[in-house]
Formats: sequence, C-alpha cells, structure tokens
Amino acid sequence: MLKRNRSLLDIDRDHLIHPVTSFHGHEARGATFLESGKGMWVKDRDGNELLDAFAGLWCVNVGYGQESIVEAAAEQMRRLPYATGYFHFGSEPAVKLAERLVQLAPSSLTRVFFTLGGSDAVDSAVRYITHYWNAVGKPTKKHYIALERGYHGSSSTGAGLTALANFHRLFDLPRPWQHHIPSPYPYRSDLGDDAAAIIARSVAQFQAKVDELGGPDNVAAFFCEPIQGSGGVIVPPKGWLKAMRDACRDLDILFLADEVITGFGRTGPLFACEQEEVEPDLMTVAKGLTAGYAPMGAVLMSEEIYQGIAEAAKGADVIGHGFTYSGHPVSAAVGLEVIRLYTEGGILANGQARAEDFAAELESLADHPLVGDVRGRGLLGAIELVADKQQKSRFDPSLKLPDRLFKQGYANGVIFRAFGDNIIGLAPALCCNAAEMALIFQRIRKTLDDLL
Ligand code: PLP
Repeated sequence: MLKRNRSLLDIDRDHLIHPVTSFHGHEARGATFLESGKGMWVKDRDGNELLDAFAGLWCVNVGYGQESIVEAAAEQMRRLPYATGYFHFGSEPAVKLAERLVQLAPSSLTRVFFTLGGSDAVDSAVRYITHYWNAVGKPTKKHYIALERGYHGSSSTGAGLTALANFHRLFDLPRPWQHHIPSPYPYRSDLGDDAAAIIARSVAQFQAKVDELGGPDNVAAFFCEPIQGSGGVIVPPKGWLKAMRDACRDLDILFLADEVITGFGRTGPLFACEQEEVEPDLMTVAKGLTAGYAPMGAVLMSEEIYQGIAEAAKGADVIGHGFTYSGHPVSAAVGLEVIRLYTEGGILANGQARAEDFAAELESLADHPLVGDVRGRGLLGAIELVADKQQKSRFDPSLKLPDRLFKQGYANGVIFRAFGDNIIGLAPALCCNAAEMALIFQRIRKTLDDLL
C-alpha cells in the first residue's frame, strides 16, 4: 500500500487538543500556523506577514526575535539545562531573578516562589494563603472573593476564581468557597463616569459579600486584576485598586493583585500596582516575566505571610508545595535578560512613549459607527463594538461577530483578540515603533469598515 503524507492541518485536527478552543469548531475551521516572527511582525505558513497587535497572548512584550534572549537561553542550556529547587538545591539564575523581582516589585513583597505560568501561580497563591491562615491560628478564613469577568487562569482551583462562563460550564465550578462581586465596568455602569461612586459601590459590594459569608473571620483573600484582561479589558477608575486594597487591610483579608497581564510594562510602569501606589500582600506574575520566550510565572508574597508560615513550620519537615520545574534555570536566565531589556534596553521607556500614540489612535476610533467605547492604559486597550451606540446594545451572538472580526483583521494583516462580547482586545509589544502603531490602527479601521 502506498504511504501518504498527511497535512499538518489533518494531523492537528486528529490529535492535538487546543486550549480554549471549541472541539467541533476547531475540526471545521482548522488551525492557523505561525512560523516565524521579528519585532512586531509574524509570518504564517502561507507566507503572509501580519502585525501582531496582541503580543502573542499578551506576553511577547519585547517583540519577537530578540537575539540576546536566545543567547541567554542557549548559554544556560549548555552550562546546566536543569537544576531542581527542591531539597535546598538551587541555581544562580533563579536566585538572581528572585532578587531582581523583589527590587522591582512593590516594596511589600519580599519573597518569590517560581511556577511555570500564571495558572499555577494563582494556584500556588491559594495553597500558601490556606497554609498561612491555618498556620497563624485563623483556620476559619476559607472563603475567597474575586470579580465577575475576572480571569485567574485555568487550574482546577484558579478556574473557579475566574468568572467567565466557559471556564465554569460543565466543570462544576465555582466551588462553594469561591465568590464573585460585580466588576467596576464604567462603560456598562449606571453610574456613568462618576469614578467616586463606582469605587464606593465596589467597596460596599465587597463588604456586603464579606458580611454574607459570616464576616472577615471567614474570608481568606480578595483576588483581582488591576485591569481585567480576558474579561474584555475592563479598566476601573483610578483609585479603585487602592480603595479595594484598603478595604481588605481594614478587614484583615489578604489582597492579591494578579498582574499576569498588567505586569512588566503593559500599563506603563513595570507593575500596575505602582501606578496606584498599592502595596499588595501577594502578587502573581507570568507572561511578560519571560515575554513568552520560555514558560515561567511567580507568586510574590509579603514577609509577614512568609514568616507566618515559617514560624508555624518550625520543627516540621517541609512545606509540601512545589513543582519539578519551579525556578527552571533556562526560564530564569531568559527572565533576567528580558528584564534587562525592559530596564536597560529601553523597551519599557519605548512602551511608555508609544502609549500616547496608542491612546490617541484608540480615541480616533470612538466616532466609528460600530464603536461604543474605547478604553485602555499604557499599551493595553479595547474597542467595544455595539449594535446601537445610544442604547449600548450588544450584537446578536448568532452573527458570530468576534469570529468574523478576527478573520477580517487577519485578512487585512493584523492580529488582535476578538472577545465574545464583541470587544477587540489590543496589547502590542512595547517595542512597537510609531509607524507600526499607525499601521495597526489603519488596518483595524479598515477591518471595522469592511464589516459595516
Ligand atoms: N491570571 C491572569 C490575570 C491571566 O490573564 C492569565 C492568563 O491569561 C492567568 C492568570 C493564567 O496564566 P497562564 O495562562 O500562564 O496559566
């Protein structure tokens, strides 16, 4: 019998399960394969060159093809490709990266635990928080509060703190100890632009939820993204993060800032907490930490939490939490070089300079007939499309507009994220130049015009 080569598309269809993809839809549509990238540009298998306005999955913050990162990874692989962090072993890159993170993060955070990405950073945070409250003699603090439309990853624990329907449906989530309060969504709020009222309402909703759960003695922590990413780039009013942080402090509830997307320059400064002068008890990071060149995430925690666990563990053998690849030396070497590029390589400063063009370009789309709202901070932004600008009414889901938007954008040479509520998410790399930024928006405008 003759052998036949099967196409990559067929093999993919038959065997590979894609993350966050409809099984049926994928079989019908097939995969898009990207093959190479340089700076802001990616090339697909058919030779099409596209502007990536989403930095991969909001992670390739330094752009593609940064040779110094490739060198750092290769050099570490050659020297020592693997070193465990277990049983008092360690590796130099992991130690140096932990030190660098503590230098750069809000000053409340002094200890770093490395993970493979954001989901297991969130998961690890829950494990450590549980351990901490038990260790310091407050074992009734078991409930967690997060935001509707929040995203905290896809682990069996974190997906319950996430509040997006597809992550709960048929997964038996959220769990009974996972709760959500409404997100501060100015465009969809009956309070309009009244920032103070939106903030006051969020704080009141948080306090009401704590009361409903029997008071602060039953509540372990509040988790939030400083700007909600996967929920549709929802930007709370300035001052919201601080108000929530203060509410947590007043009630002795731990405050975790999930900076997996907002970290590493995405919103302007290195961390969004910095912008709002917020000192969280814990922070989760991933994505921009290694800019997608190698998998890595981290949980940063305060000295108080670390010491609470350490004190109680006196005499006990080990704190039973860790991964084979915690602090992987190749990922850590990559992280060190990526951070050098942000800070000494000028990429953070370039991102900050480009943020002005980004805001102006977003604003210029506001009067487009399909656009209800534009919003953003730094190089994180969204364009929310509506069927009726006055009513702010959403398009009928049967139109499958997000799918059409993405395909049309791709045909016009730009990649962005098209969320379910007809929200276009944008997160260009921080290395973007002025001409590329202008081209991204020309192509987005054309895409919107094409759909009229
Ligand atoms: N937390 C936030 C805020 C995220 O946006 C994400 C991913 O998008 C995660 C956690 C999960 O990270 P990962 O996909 O690396 O597991």
